[in-house]
Amino acid sequence: MELPEQIEISGYICNIEIVKEIKVSRKRCYGIYDAKTKTIYLDKNMDSTRMKEIFIHEFMHFLEDIYRLKFDDNYLSTLALGILQLVTNKKIKWTE
Ligand SMILES: [Zn+2]
Repeated sequence: MELPEQIEISGYICNIEIVKEIKVSRKRCYGIYDAKTKTIYLDKNMDSTRMKEIFIHEFMHFLEDIYRLKFDDNYLSTLALGILQLVTNKKIKWTE
């Protein structure tokens, strides 16, 4: 998967950084969204499917931030899986 350095949604810029390792309170995690800098950090040591899933999850945290929503994190993970299946469904031609 190739990701741009930034994505603009409704005038807000979401930064994306692929990093070697992410630790939150000494605990390793695969992705995190920093609302202060509007940056998604993704651990580079993931397989492609996991990277997509985590990216969608963290991107939804960005949407939660800019639209002032509040998502339950477990629901968000489930939604991210569903969205991943939707966007990778080969029967849908997104570019047409
Ligand atoms: Zn989350």
